[in-house]
Amino acid sequence: MNPLVTVASLVLFPIAALAAAEPTRCPGTGILVPGWSTEARASVCSASAAAVAFLQAAGLAARTDDLTIAPLKPGTDEDEQHVIGCCNVRRKEILVLTYEASVAASQRFPPAFGMPMTATLWQSFIGHETAHYVAEQNFAAGVERRAASEYIAGVVQLATLPPDERTAILERYHDKAFGDASEISMVLYEFDPPGFAVMAYRHYAALGDQGPAFIARLLREGLDQ
Ligand SMILES: [Zn+2]
Repeated sequence: MNPLVTVASLVLFPIAALAAAEPTRCPGTGILVPGWSTEARASVCSASAAAVAFLQAAGLAARTDDLTIAPLKPGTDEDEQHVIGCCNVRRKEILVLTYEASVAASQRFPPAFGMPMTATLWQSFIGHETAHYVAEQNFAAGVERRAASEYIAGVVQLATLPPDERTAILERYHDKAFGDASEISMVLYEFDPPGFAVMAYRHYAALGDQGPAFIARLLREGLDQ
């Protein structure tokens, strides 16, 4: 054996090991995205960035430097709830099914929004969970936030979809709308989460340039229900 090669291996191996252990982050952010393929990671990063940009434009502060977005593993407790994604604010962690797993889930269970799963619809769930994470940082202490957070996440989810896909969903839920803010409730959310998201988006869109002020009110006062 060439002793020089041996020495080189000894030196190089720890460097390679360090590189493998270095957590992967979304470009220009501190968001950790371990466990994804290169292609999926790019989709996760762009979806979370779109959600953050929407909320920042609406006036929210967003701290995501210590957030982790990782694949939701089939067979875990979170997966048993038949969700596409979930956000654990305390653990600063979002778990989302891979695109492939979300396609499989949409074929086993009633599909979200009654639509075939697409890459962009899957990304909208990453936006939804990112919105929960950012909203949580902006709520005033002590306010009742569950329905308010679902409203904000629903708005972000629909707003960040490609327009033709959003239009198709809105047409499917053509009769769904909140009359006024007093109708926004967890009862409605639990009855039909996608329908709730559509109603939230429609309500927000109807507010026009008053939308950000409405979100600011939700963050300040929460919702009773
Ligand atoms: Zn949600």
